[in-house]
Amino acid sequence: MACASLVIHNGTILTMDSSASVIERGYVLIRDGAIAAVASGDPPPLKDGAAIDAERGVIMPGLVNGHTHAAMTLFRGLADDLPLMQWLERYIFPVERRMDAAFVRAGAMLACAEMIRSGTTTFCDMYLFEQEVAAAARQAGMRCLVGEVLYDFPSPNYGPLERGFAYTEALIDRWAGDDLVSVAVEAHAPYTCSPELLQRASRLAQQRGVPLILHLAETESETLQIQQRYGLRPVEHLERLGVLGPHLIADHCVHLNAAEMDLLAARGVRCIHCPESNMKLASGIAPVPALISRGVAVGLGTDGCASNNDLDLFGEMDTAAKLHKLQQRDPTAMDAVTVLALATREGARALGIGALAGSLEAGKRADLIVLDTRQPHLVPLYHPISHVVYAARGGDVRHVVIDGQVVLRDRRFTTLDLHAVLSAAEEMAGRVRRWVAEG
Ligand SMILES: [Zn+2]
Repeated sequence: MACASLVIHNGTILTMDSSASVIERGYVLIRDGAIAAVASGDPPPLKDGAAIDAERGVIMPGLVNGHTHAAMTLFRGLADDLPLMQWLERYIFPVERRMDAAFVRAGAMLACAEMIRSGTTTFCDMYLFEQEVAAAARQAGMRCLVGEVLYDFPSPNYGPLERGFAYTEALIDRWAGDDLVSVAVEAHAPYTCSPELLQRASRLAQQRGVPLILHLAETESETLQIQQRYGLRPVEHLERLGVLGPHLIADHCVHLNAAEMDLLAARGVRCIHCPESNMKLASGIAPVPALISRGVAVGLGTDGCASNNDLDLFGEMDTAAKLHKLQQRDPTAMDAVTVLALATREGARALGIGALAGSLEAGKRADLIVLDTRQPHLVPLYHPISHVVYAARGGDVRHVVIDGQVVLRDRRFTTLDLHAVLSAAEEMAGRVRRWVAEG
């Protein structure tokens, strides 16, 4: 339960409000899970609450992971440096064919532990058995947007597609009105989903007032496949199907031309950038600066652990900033404030929760983290936002508050038993080894 009042004080506050204002020595006052005040100096005395001394560290919004497959933590390091089809057929498919709810629950709990410990307070998930992911997030106290993946082939969870739509609707009903868990309709990608599936998923999302999420324009081969099948590029294909709109969150968005970017902006589509996954799978570099300049809401995601191999958004920010500078041969491209915004305010906007989270402003829910900056790699501290993007790591996160609840205090979890989470994941890894050997 959240304390009636909680104050985090004696820290440098990165508000990440629209002007990214920084408060040198201030406090954040929380009442009933919401931010009541963000101010400089000492907090007012509290009669009924708790206090956390940030010890002159950084107080900032919790990070928003815009795209992941949480349970794929159980695939971390299983098989790297392989061509995509070999990786899928030899390692991923044999496991996914046999996995069950308990497997996904164990992987999702591991992911929640990793994300909280590295400062992520909200994540957006796409996978199988998503009821388990929602339940894991609820248990860990994390904010999330989840959805069951739909595609043209039978699923190890729900079987035929028809039951996938029923599962999605049941998920939407089950979590309606929840403080932390929201549900989306999630179609895998234009190359794995028929036009009928995409249109039906889009209609369902609009009817239920929830986002539609899909992977879009991730690889060159996707573009070629869609062109061969439909005579159009992936974004044009979705436009013709009437699927592009402000309800759509598109993951990756690597292979876009200028006209497609204009179209995404005109339709109000939101995008999630996953630079480390795109690098590891050699997919390409998403044109993020060009999307931002068109006003598109862009968030940052790690993608699953099979293609990253961690869920640390601090590393992801560092990579994003440097990747675009290198690509543009311009050290001023994707500056630290822009990149931190992708992982906070803009990431929340991209997920449709910009009014709730993503910055430290009175009235928003209290999702925040405290970094310990008294460490050799963070001293001296001239520009805290630069430090957060270029020098800090997930391991520097000391306290985490989500919806007013302290879920990590002095790097110790208050909502989950880390030993049990790690043991369950190791047990599942034994199954993964067996299933891969059996083929
Ligand atoms: Zn993905």
